[in-house]
Amino acid sequence: MVLGVDVGGTKVAVAAVEGVTATHAAEHPTVTAGADALLDGVEHVVREVIAAAGEPEAIGVGVPSQIEFATGMVETSVNIPLMGVPLREELGRRFGVPVFVDNDANCAALAEAHIVGESHLVMLTLGTGVGGGVVIDGLTFRGAHGLGAELGHIAVNPDGPPCPGNCPNRGCLESYCSGQALERDATELAKDKPDSPLAERMGPDRKVSGRELVAAADAGDSDALLLMENFARMLGIGIANYVNVFEPQRLAIGGGLSRASHLFLERAVKEAAARALPALWKRVSVALAEGGADAGVIGAGLLAALEMPRDRDTGSAKATTSKGIE
Ligand SMILES: [Zn+2]
Repeated sequence: MVLGVDVGGTKVAVAAVEGVTATHAAEHPTVTAGADALLDGVEHVVREVIAAAGEPEAIGVGVPSQIEFATGMVETSVNIPLMGVPLREELGRRFGVPVFVDNDANCAALAEAHIVGESHLVMLTLGTGVGGGVVIDGLTFRGAHGLGAELGHIAVNPDGPPCPGNCPNRGCLESYCSGQALERDATELAKDKPDSPLAERMGPDRKVSGRELVAAADAGDSDALLLMENFARMLGIGIANYVNVFEPQRLAIGGGLSRASHLFLERAVKEAAARALPALWKRVSVALAEGGADAGVIGAGLLAALEMPRDRDTGSAKATTSKGIE
């Protein structure tokens, strides 16, 4: 048995994980006052689950941050105060068992692959930003240091809008297919057309939120539908790119925006079908992610279960782990 820990911007969820089943789940609000306070909060929830489920063999942790995988060092972290924290060493010291840390989108992709039973899978997580993960042969692809598979930061238009992420590029997929991008486009359109239905949905901050845009599209507003059409087209271009590079068996779409998939998925698939290489396209299925609310902890648990034997073999992070046990 291993533990999966999903550290989000608003809550920390922990569960005992065996295969793709999570039990003894517990969660608490994320303490964002500082790194130590946050880690104390994580420790508190983990101890609660250990008390109920027993001592785990290893712990996997997913965080909304860029992670150097071998050390678990947090390279950048926008929503939670963990930048520069050697998370693997810090948590290994607190719990005395091997700890593995990865980006939360990587964990979500790993969970999805194992839940649907496909060993080659690409998952896009459409939320405030665009995240993603790539699973190859059942294992997470991370690049040389763990910082790879930043699927939201491929350019789909060289002259597109500045990327809203922590990124110097323009016209990234995240510039079109994220909640931030929808808010930007809806707000711009509402300001250009002050008599439009979208303008009526402007909040006190003079912005039209992604949620309001989706509501307008659902109500049949032509401006909102046009913005969703553009969203779908750009997503389709991205999907075709990932299919051509990775040739997954499945390309899964998850994240909060996937709840509005009725407004974009069919159109995106049509666009991808027209662009991807035919021999690859006919072998892939594009579908909404099947993992539920506990996919984050399941992915973190799978991370620990899959990396533990590999880590033992290579001893790549032995120093960190043994320091944790002393
Ligand atoms: Zn970018």
